[in-house]
Amino acid sequence: MSCHYSDISAENRPSFLPRRPITWKSCSARARKKLEGFYACGYLYAKSADLFLERLASYPSPDRQHIWNKQRETKTAGMFDEYSGAPSHWFGSYVGKNFRFVRKTFKRVIRRFEKGYDFAGKSRPIRFECLSENWGGCRSTLLANASIYGTVRVCPRTLRKPLNEGAMVILHELLHQRLDIGDQRDRACHRGSDARCYREGARKLVQAGKLSKALRNNDNYVYFARGIYLAQRLPWTATR
Ligand SMILES: [Zn+2]
Repeated sequence: MSCHYSDISAENRPSFLPRRPITWKSCSARARKKLEGFYACGYLYAKSADLFLERLASYPSPDRQHIWNKQRETKTAGMFDEYSGAPSHWFGSYVGKNFRFVRKTFKRVIRRFEKGYDFAGKSRPIRFECLSENWGGCRSTLLANASIYGTVRVCPRTLRKPLNEGAMVILHELLHQRLDIGDQRDRACHRGSDARCYREGARKLVQAGKLSKALRNNDNYVYFARGIYLAQRLPWTATR
């Protein structure tokens, strides 16, 4: 389900891909290939959200609100309908400034995917570093880490993930650092000793009415973007 290799194959390749704005540290050829796939699909998710929001912005305000608030529940909808592409499902009911913030955040992360990270006005390609099994966090549950600006460090277990899951990890990490969002903590998200709003925590924030946290939580963007991608499956070759 979601992101297929056919979407990033040579003939469907989004036009940014040939630029390959990636530098590598300690990654094998196999790891690079895997990460390039994750990167491309993470980009498709973000780009889907960006195009959707751009179209929404062109509508008169009442129409925009109507579409934003329309829930696209599926038959299997449980407490965590993780495939929803409804903006209100991930960010709550329409509020003009929230809409603008979400739109701006996707624009900024798209730019990062396309051009790299901004270093005093100059773009530097993203750097992927492949960590070893023995690296601190990789020994427990860590998938990846973006604590160094411009670098995404990846644990070996992430490289074993399917394309769609790897794409979510990469999009999550690119949303870190200087985009005014992060992994929010909230009582509603409590699981074991961790209160960070990962995965289903994204939806829990909305259900608990913590909308300003939802607006600033990475995974709310990641799940929304994947939902929109799944809902639309845009014809990439026709967009340029
Ligand atoms: Zn994070």
